Amino acid sequence: MSVCPVCGKPLEARKVKCFGCAVELHRECAKKTMGKFYCRRCYREGKRRARLERMRQWGGMGKKVPHKLW
Ligand SMILES: [Zn+2]
Ligand SMILES: [Zn+2]
Repeated sequence: MSVCPVCGKPLEARKVKCFGCAVELHRECAKKTMGKFYCRRCYREGKRRARLERMRQWGGMGKKVPHKLW
């Protein structure tokens, strides 16, 4: 039996899988965003990636990316 990477206790029936790295953890230890469960690490990573993605979308929509960047 594996243990939860967040709290270190053995996993029982109430476990979920992290959508990012597929690690198993307790449902109450996981972060739930947009219907998916994430471990703490992936949650942080996901938030960072979402911000970057938004910035990229803004840049693409506005077409204000200077050519110097590329
Ligand atoms: Zn746990
Ligand atoms: Zn993860």
